[in-house]
Amino acid sequence: MNDTVSNNLQNVRKRIELASAAAGRASGAVKLLAVSKTMPAQAVRDAHAAGQLAFGENYIQEGVDKIASLADLPLAWHCIGPIQSNKSKLVAENFAWVHSIDRLKIAERLSAQRPAHLPPLQVCLQVNVDGGNNKSGVAPSELLALAQAVAKLPHLQLRGLMTIPEPAANELAARAVHRQAKELFDSLNAAGLKLDTLSMGMTADLEAAIAEGSTCVRVGTAIFGVRP
Ligand SMILES: *Cc1c(COP(=O)(O)O)cnc(C)c1O
Repeated sequence: MNDTVSNNLQNVRKRIELASAAAGRASGAVKLLAVSKTMPAQAVRDAHAAGQLAFGENYIQEGVDKIASLADLPLAWHCIGPIQSNKSKLVAENFAWVHSIDRLKIAERLSAQRPAHLPPLQVCLQVNVDGGNNKSGVAPSELLALAQAVAKLPHLQLRGLMTIPEPAANELAARAVHRQAKELFDSLNAAGLKLDTLSMGMTADLEAAIAEGSTCVRVGTAIFGVRP
């Protein structure tokens, strides 16, 4: 049992609570996803011992290996990294959630490859709100069409949106980008989709994300320390 991870988790939970209260959000409205990429399985065991159940991994093969070595724990695994076609089967077979879908082809493969004995894969669409050219994420102008197509796939359940904005210069700038994501989220719901998950906010900007309506913050560094 590692006290550092446990203390860090308590601090992050406190940050989420304070930010939620400041924004008038209900307690429990914002979930914490612990991002364990590059961290050893033991770090995940430490976090689990401190009450954390949901974990995010970016690199598929690393994630799958970690999932296998932690199969004795009742954890929910979220894929938050880019998915190449040749890795989609591993994702469909091993993860409960995917936050990083940005094209229909990958969504179709995940749906087709999801094993019948598992519940539908819970998915978010990654949207490129701040328009960085080389970034993954669907463009806002193409988001509705992608959402409507993904919502029809039988073995996926579309839950919401995910964003990874560029680091912002300050809190106001961070909030402006998060607000755009929230507006897209609201517009999809207004169009009849039933989304409940807005995955945004990391170690540096979780307060700004919560202020603008995040329902899931993905936190690595503040829990596990700086990555190697
Ligand atoms: C690494 C990563 C995080 C966690 O970032 P921290 O700044 O360490 O909290 C969150 N989301 C994604 C998609 C990541 O790749």
